[in-house]
Amino acid sequence: MKFETKAIHFAERKRGAGCVPTTTPIHTATSYVHDSMEALDRILGGDDDGQSYGRFDNPTRNALSDLVCELESGAGAIACASGMSALHLGILAALLDRPKQVLAANALFGATTKLLLSVFGPMGVETEFCDVCDLAAFEEAVKETKPGAVVMETISNPLLRVAAMDKIAGICAGVPLIVDNTFATPMMVRPLELGASIVVHSATKYMAGHGDVLGGVIIANEEHFPSIRALSRTIGPTMSPFDSYLTMRGIKTMPLRLERQCANACKVASWLADHPRVERVYFTGDPKHPDAATIARLFPRNLQGAMLAFDLKDAGRAEVFRFMEALKMIVPATSLGDVHTMALYPAMASHREISAKMRHRLGIGDGLIRISTGIEAVEDIIADLEQALLT
Ligand SMILES: *Cc1c(COP(=O)(O)O)cnc(C)c1O
Repeated sequence: MKFETKAIHFAERKRGAGCVPTTTPIHTATSYVHDSMEALDRILGGDDDGQSYGRFDNPTRNALSDLVCELESGAGAIACASGMSALHLGILAALLDRPKQVLAANALFGATTKLLLSVFGPMGVETEFCDVCDLAAFEEAVKETKPGAVVMETISNPLLRVAAMDKIAGICAGVPLIVDNTFATPMMVRPLELGASIVVHSATKYMAGHGDVLGGVIIANEEHFPSIRALSRTIGPTMSPFDSYLTMRGIKTMPLRLERQCANACKVASWLADHPRVERVYFTGDPKHPDAATIARLFPRNLQGAMLAFDLKDAGRAEVFRFMEALKMIVPATSLGDVHTMALYPAMASHREISAKMRHRLGIGDGLIRISTGIEAVEDIIADLEQALLT
């Protein structure tokens, strides 16, 4: 073999040395060779499982997908390049052979509303929004719109409402229910066990957990997974091997992180509730939460959420900016679910695309601040909030 040929082929595709690594390696190859053409033919034809091409399968990504599938009690899962690509794939798959009509919760992640209105809208998909916490109104809306899919979040953003997902699934009766479970994680709620059809996550948040991965996962039941898989193989919205590795690594400590984050959130929420500069606190672990009965039924007692929000008293953009800029440890950036505590201003960030009038109708005030509780010592989180509130 000539030098230039060896530079390409030497030491590649060595057969296994008979040892098994304890953690899944980052497999970067985009295609795979097999002992016979017959074997590759069977894989490409779908008769055998196996690796052929990176858009179809990747060992690192498949390991992560299998892990999340197991955690969410699904029939199959695909790790995606972002939470939004997972949502896009889920809605697309559900609507392929159904009415091009979506019924969506009126309190959704901002980009999800935008996806429905600005991406699916021009393709002929109509979206109606309704309050999924009002079961009678939801049932009426299902009858009226006859949707091809229903889209909701386990914990709404940013006001942290929790709809009775088990009852919603009952009302859906055959209409695919797509649930964004990012805020709850499968540690708190497993929507497929409650009757949902498709679950999506932004793995960027609690799963990866360290602010260094952009990713998503889609998990589905037996009925919906085949079409999701087929679409994914054609479109290729999948996660990279490196991000898959990091996310899998992150998930190993997700239970530990969430236990601490939820415990910290409880303490921070009750401290904020007593603060004179705080008008109102929104927290799923609050016994006076408007959906407390549903939360008690669906969530474990010690894991009722690590996100909270509060209204700064008599505040608008200027006061909120002053508070955010005064924070010394808490990170004022646009994400959540990381090991570090984060603060976000929904009117400027997650919900900036929504008109002020619509925001106010949804109850998202100009003084509303959202906190994602981290794993720091809770005393330090409270001390930072205190000094910023006094600024
Ligand atoms: C962040 C987020 C998304 C979008 O996820 P990306 O990974 O940023 O694409 C969707 N839904 C919820 C609830 C989120 O918090």
